[in-house]
Amino acid sequence: MPRATFNNKQATFLPALKKDVDAYFKENNLPKTGNWKLFSKTILFLPLAVLLYFMLLFYPMAGWIAIILCAVLGLVLALIGFNVMHDACHGCYSSRPWVNEILGYTLNLIGGNSFIWKQKHNILHHTYTNVDGLDDDVAVSPFLRLCSTQKWVPIHRIQHIYAPFLYSLNTIFWMTYQDFQKYFTQKVYRTKLPNMSSKEHIIFWVSKVFYVLVYMVIPILVLGWKNWLIGYLVLNAVMGLGTSIIFQLAHVVEETEFSYVGINDTIVIENEWAVHQVKTTADFSPKSKLVTFLAGGLNYQVEHHLFPRISHIHYPALSKIVEKKCKEFNLPYNVSPTFFKAVNSHFKLIREMGARPL
Ligand SMILES: [Zn+2]
Repeated sequence: MPRATFNNKQATFLPALKKDVDAYFKENNLPKTGNWKLFSKTILFLPLAVLLYFMLLFYPMAGWIAIILCAVLGLVLALIGFNVMHDACHGCYSSRPWVNEILGYTLNLIGGNSFIWKQKHNILHHTYTNVDGLDDDVAVSPFLRLCSTQKWVPIHRIQHIYAPFLYSLNTIFWMTYQDFQKYFTQKVYRTKLPNMSSKEHIIFWVSKVFYVLVYMVIPILVLGWKNWLIGYLVLNAVMGLGTSIIFQLAHVVEETEFSYVGINDTIVIENEWAVHQVKTTADFSPKSKLVTFLAGGLNYQVEHHLFPRISHIHYPALSKIVEKKCKEFNLPYNVSPTFFKAVNSHFKLIREMGARPL
């Protein structure tokens, strides 16, 4: 099993930053968890998804309207993931652990599994960000080469052209294949999953049966399999593209760094953990209120990676403190001013990674 450790003994950046961030919360008398802004998103998105689902099944409408509504439902499901599930799974939606646990299961309602995702995301991705060999998020597919340590094959030459197509299949692949692969191998990429309790086994199977019934069997019975197939593909294209792009813009752009650990190796990352986070992560369109609202603050990914247990609604305020501290410590503070500049940077990078290595 690959392993990596950080040079945390002489850590200076994180303690200094934490001091300023804690002072901000104290001065403003704020909890680090969510507030009405987050709760209002929850009571908007969750019922909207249910309403759209039932409208699509039982309200007669023209085909093109149904296709648009499927796309909207895909977007709303992605927004539930970014805004509600993500904070809840990090334990920062609410100060009450049971609220976080219950809302973490919104991932299971979308088709995933919160237990497996917490290992993949909270532990592997958030600790070993962009470490090829440990971070499952950069090991998306053999058809995509995201960093120079990954194996090159000739088809990568055109990966920047077909990448959006693969991204649009992301959630179908995740819900119907990757979760099962992780479950049956009890591994996330190359790292063993912690033992699953009987409760987690039951939740896994109940959620997957729920997914098959709600997203496949019931729509096929009501609408016929052709209509279902079109709707299912449209819904997932939007949800998959949305989730992939938000991830890629935060970690796989020209400014972000990568490292590598071999299958049975242990590496020491020369930086303290927080410095590693700053170097492997980027913000995008920080000034856009719309992007911040929709992406659940994931456009402030640097702040999220430094403080994953603080709710995303605080990130715009924290970004000023983080940027200042990065300057003070002579560290990069990666930020793309707009969404499209970040998209451009991602595609430039994967085009570069797709060229035959020298
Ligand atoms: Zn996260």
